[in-house]
Amino acid sequence: MVIAESKPVSEILEMIKGYKKVLVVGCKGCVTVCNAGGQKEVEILSSELRIARQVSGNEVEIKEYTCERQCDPEYIEPLDELVKDVDAVVSIACSVGPQYIVARYPYLPVYPGLNTVSIGGALEHGVWREFCQACGNCAIHLFGGLCPIARCAKQLLNGPCGGSSGGKCEVGKGQIDCVWHLIYERLKNLNQLHIMEELRLYKDWSTSRDGGPRTTIREELRK
Ligand code: SF4
Ligand code: SF4
Repeated sequence: MVIAESKPVSEILEMIKGYKKVLVVGCKGCVTVCNAGGQKEVEILSSELRIARQVSGNEVEIKEYTCERQCDPEYIEPLDELVKDVDAVVSIACSVGPQYIVARYPYLPVYPGLNTVSIGGALEHGVWREFCQACGNCAIHLFGGLCPIARCAKQLLNGPCGGSSGGKCEVGKGQIDCVWHLIYERLKNLNQLHIMEELRLYKDWSTSRDGGPRTTIREELRK
């Protein structure tokens, strides 16, 4: 899933300081799962903004809504009525969401309430970690099912480097596993250590984002 975290309320207050009517929009997708932008967070942020503005003597009217998904035009549509009477929108979806709102309402100022961090998953309650960098040509089968692109600080395709110590990476103050250590252990368990002896000369990066934003087309779905 996409992992995101809240911007400081002070930053959002600065963004909306000139507006009197603001719509806060959440999303029921990934950001609900990582407790950053679901209905509960819409309610909390809206209250925080109302109170802070009231205290500062500059009251603001806040409307609230949570989309099924903000990354899909059909789920943005329900905002049509709500945006008629607001000066600005704060989106607390991942950073795709506010851009969809911009596309539908080009006349309306839209502000991001979250910082989009990574593609990953939960390690434990309240802790998420990056697992994928969406390179567009998954190669984890060459690395025991683990991704050195997302999980090695140096994105080494042939590892580990000399900074691997006690299973930990030199980057991250000993808090992060060296993925190459994990790859070694995994391949050893699979009796496939010979895979580590194969030199990975290069990866095909043509599917990565260096050529600009990527478009995925599924012709069978377009009919
Ligand atoms: S190889 Fe690419 S697609 Fe696969 S997990 Fe790593 S970054 Fe993601
Ligand atoms: S210690 Fe491991 S994870 Fe860290 S940079 Fe070196 S190979 Fe990559």
